[in-house]
Amino acid sequence: MIRIGQAGIPLSCKGRTNKDGLVYTKEILDLNAMEVQFVRGLYVMDDEEALFMKEYAQENDVELHVHAPYYINLAGDDEVKLSIEKAMSSAILAEKMGAKTVVIHPGYYGEKSPLETLKLIVKNTQALQDMMLEKSLNVRLGLETMGKQKVFGSLDEIIKVCEQVPGVLPVIDIGHIHARGNGCLKKQEDFEEVFDKLSVLDLDHYLIHVTGVLYEDGNEQYHLPVKKGDMPIGPLIDTVLDHDYNVSLISESPLLEHDAVYLRLQVEKAIMKRTDGEEADYRDLSEIQ
Ligand SMILES: [Zn+2]
Repeated sequence: MIRIGQAGIPLSCKGRTNKDGLVYTKEILDLNAMEVQFVRGLYVMDDEEALFMKEYAQENDVELHVHAPYYINLAGDDEVKLSIEKAMSSAILAEKMGAKTVVIHPGYYGEKSPLETLKLIVKNTQALQDMMLEKSLNVRLGLETMGKQKVFGSLDEIIKVCEQVPGVLPVIDIGHIHARGNGCLKKQEDFEEVFDKLSVLDLDHYLIHVTGVLYEDGNEQYHLPVKKGDMPIGPLIDTVLDHDYNVSLISESPLLEHDAVYLRLQVEKAIMKRTDGEEADYRDLSEIQ
C-alpha cells in the first residue's frame, strides 16, 4: 500500500489549524496521510481538536503522524530531561489524535565520539520508550535519519538504535540520506540499498520523508522542491512498486502539498506503465501485484 501526504497544513489551505489542514488533505487534495508538525516550540492542541483529528482520520482513512519539536538532544548532558519532556508531550498529543508515529530528531555528537553518542542515545531512547509504555501509548516512537555530518542520525546509526531499542522505528528521510551521502541516491540500486539495510528490522511499514535538497560536502543546506533537487523520484517509486513495500510518503518540500500531489502523479504514471492502462489510482495496486 502507498499512502501520500504532506508535512503540516497545506500551503493552499485557507484555514490554518491542523483540523482545517486534515479536512483539506482529504477533501481537496484527495491524499491519505498527513504529518502534524509540532516543530516550532510546543504547540498545544486542545482535546476537542485532537478528538476531531482522530475521528475524522479514522472515518476517512487518513493516516496521521506527528513531528515533535526539532530541538531534541538525547545525547546532551543537561538537555536530556527537557528533550524527553518535549518528546513525551508530543507523544501524548499524538496518541490523542490516534497518530501512528511520533517523529523525533535524536540528537548531536557535540564533543563526544560517535560510539559514545550512540550509547547515550540508545540509553535515553530506551528511557523515553519506557515512559511511553508506562502510559500505555499505542503511538510508536520514530527516529529520523539526519542530513548533517555533525548531527547523529546516519541510516546505519538509526538502524543500530532501532535494533537495540525494540519497538522504536526508523523514519527514513531520503532527502537527508541523499545529502549526508553527498548525492548518493541516483539509481534504483541506490534506493534498493537503503531498503536492504533496513531489512534487519523486519518492518511491515516504512514512513518516508521526501524532499528535494541542496547539499554541500555531505551536509544538507536546505530543502528544495522535488523537481529542483538532483535526487530522482522515479527510482524510489520503482523500488517501492517492485517489492510491494508498504509505505507512507510525506512531502517535506517547501512546496508541501504540491509535491505530495506530484508524488502521487509519478506513482500513478509508474502504475500505468506497468498495467498499460490509461488510468491509475495510487491507492489501488491490485493490478500490478
Ligand atoms: Zn524531521
